[in-house]
Amino acid sequence: MSRVGVFVCHCGENIGRTVDCAKVAEAAGALPGVVHSVDYKYMCSDPGQNMVRAAIRDLKLDGVVVAACSPAMHEPTFRRATLGEGLNPFRCEMVNVREQCSWVHEDRPAATEKAVDLVRMMVEKVKRNEDLFPIKVPLTRRALVVGGGIAGIQAALDMANAGIPVVMVEKEPSIGGHMSQLSETFPTLDCSQCILTPRMVEVAQHPLITLHTFSEIEKVEGYIGNFRVTVRKKARSVDMAKCTGCGVCQQKCPQKKIPSEFDAGLGSRAAIYIPFPQAVPNKPVIDRERCTHFKTGKCGVCEKVCGPGAVDFEQQDEFVVENVGAAVLATGYQLYDIGDPGAGLRGYPEYGGGKIADVIDGLQFERLASASGPTGGEIRRPSDGKVPQTVVFLQCIGSRDRAKGIEYCSKICCMYTAKHALLYKHKVHEGKAVVFYMDVRAPGKGYDEFVRRAVEEDEVLYLRGKVSRLYEDDGRIVVSGVDTLAGMPVEIRADLVVLATAIRPQAGAARLAQKFGVGYDGHAFYSEAHPKLRPVESAAAGVMLAGVCQGPKDIPEAVAQASAAAAKVAVLFSRETLDREPVVARVNEAVCAGCFACQEVCPYGAVELNEVRDRQGRLLRRTARVNAGVCNGCGTCVATCPSKSLELAGYTDEQIFAQISALVP
Ligand SMILES: Cc1cc2nc3c(=O)[nH]c(=O)nc-3n(C[C@H](O)[C@H](O)[C@H](O)COP(=O)(O)OP(=O)(O)OC[C@H]3O[C@@H](n4cnc5c(N)ncnc54)[C@H](O)[C@@H]3O)c2cc1C
Ligand code: SF4
Repeated sequence: MSRVGVFVCHCGENIGRTVDCAKVAEAAGALPGVVHSVDYKYMCSDPGQNMVRAAIRDLKLDGVVVAACSPAMHEPTFRRATLGEGLNPFRCEMVNVREQCSWVHEDRPAATEKAVDLVRMMVEKVKRNEDLFPIKVPLTRRALVVGGGIAGIQAALDMANAGIPVVMVEKEPSIGGHMSQLSETFPTLDCSQCILTPRMVEVAQHPLITLHTFSEIEKVEGYIGNFRVTVRKKARSVDMAKCTGCGVCQQKCPQKKIPSEFDAGLGSRAAIYIPFPQAVPNKPVIDRERCTHFKTGKCGVCEKVCGPGAVDFEQQDEFVVENVGAAVLATGYQLYDIGDPGAGLRGYPEYGGGKIADVIDGLQFERLASASGPTGGEIRRPSDGKVPQTVVFLQCIGSRDRAKGIEYCSKICCMYTAKHALLYKHKVHEGKAVVFYMDVRAPGKGYDEFVRRAVEEDEVLYLRGKVSRLYEDDGRIVVSGVDTLAGMPVEIRADLVVLATAIRPQAGAARLAQKFGVGYDGHAFYSEAHPKLRPVESAAAGVMLAGVCQGPKDIPEAVAQASAAAAKVAVLFSRETLDREPVVARVNEAVCAGCFACQEVCPYGAVELNEVRDRQGRLLRRTARVNAGVCNGCGTCVATCPSKSLELAGYTDEQIFAQISALVP
């Protein structure tokens, strides 16, 4: 006869407000096999856990049911408490009477009745639970970082400095990400390149970091502790071992008018190019789409002038397999493009649709303000190179605008707009800077003071309101909108307009997430395992998140998250072996017909071939066998098996049918 204890939690008022917890405990107490039942305000608290432990000890329980919040939140808590009293932790189960009951119902009697049903079902399951033991798997103590922006750089350096070998994969020819394009950074106005470039060099020189630039993730196999990642190293058309980075090739290349990605299209580069002078690695790459040799078979100037003979037009993409135990995704962002915003998003034809030369975005302004930019740091308008006397900055372009497809706040643009207006006033003292805003969101340390400084010391005019239209007139841009505080229409003739366009995840972010099994939201920002308690882990075990790929954030936040992700990897690697949940599929080899339908459907490649032989070693038959180290316990094979030879530990047919019978007697 089973001895089950039932513990019903009020979760403060979260459950108790809608579910009569005392009544649930009372009903549970009357169930066959239940020897103890109780309700309590906070079952996860120390006194709550002690109640569970005392009951296991004193009443010799062999099963525990906790009716509370989601198992994703507290299953480990209660299983630890169970183990503390010597009871196998897999004899403890949680019933989610919060998300699946109190939060989704309003009718208290009906919700209480449902909670009783859920508890009754789980009691029947627990009565059939068996002891299960964690599966020990070996661990590869090597980490992968995808993305070489400031977040990826920070995570890689933190891990490498802790003695963990790191492989960094960056899709562009250089690491550095967007921070390398910035001029000065809020709120301290320190030079972005001066703080970033030493770290880029450190990454390249660190003995524990392997750097693959101009590379992308092709394939991901395996699981936490043992990932096998195939990296595509795209052909640079330059032999990195021979190249000295002298730069003669890019000087001599006749194709020099290609818009530079680094200068956000405001400067130009050659077809063979080093993206920017401080690039890491400081070696060129050939843009095959624009190179005359690749287009027509002619030219080849770079090959002729290269002393060490490093130019290699025949170079092919190379595939490298890296074995790692954990990964940090740090793929950052792109800006909303008002002319070509992408699927599901509307552009801004009313703002010129990206076709007015002197309507630019924030990154373009950064390049204008940067000493390494196309104007050497002077603010000059792209159309004619004149110094603009009136600059209008528009906030929330694309962000917080459901009609345009994005409802979220991009979080950093209030701050960088204040920085842009302030930098402009520092460079053009007599100039006029006007900001149109919806609200000013500046909650970081020293941030509000920074915005006030722009308004009070640098006399930037902030107008609350929305601009309805921008159009060109006689060499200037007419900004037509409404000042909602004064309740008056406004029209300003500007020389330059800077749009604070929305922050969006990188193109291809969703595809990469799918390779790693990481969840993402409707915009393709990566989802954290728990928004409060596990903000740097993804739901895919062993895959952490850092920087803007998870949501808009500034540099200090991106760096903090990256260090946290590195710490999570270090914690994971602090063990000799990994313990995996024993909830895995198992084959009854005696009845398996060897059809291997399970092998075809298993999304993790966990089903292997097993050969049954006699004493003389003669092959009798082939059956399926599940590699417990690879199986993720999804149960797809169990549902598929035509001979019913597979079952999932902890979710056997007997257990599931017992639960159904408890609901529908
Ligand atoms: C106009 C503007 C001004 C700003 N000014 C400031 C400021 O003054 N102060 C401040 O704190 N913040 C500022 N920010 C914010 C700052 O840019 C970000 O917080 C920071 O750059 C985020 O770093 P990250 O590493 O997360 O992303 P990113 O810088 O975007 O880096 C991501 C990296 O991942 C690479 N990558 C992407 N996809 C893949 C893939 N599939 N495979 C391999 N590699 C990939 C990218 O090429 C890139 O190198 C500003 C932002 C803007 C737009
Ligand atoms: S940070 Fe400021 S400008 Fe950017 S979307 Fe949010 S409120 Fe608008």
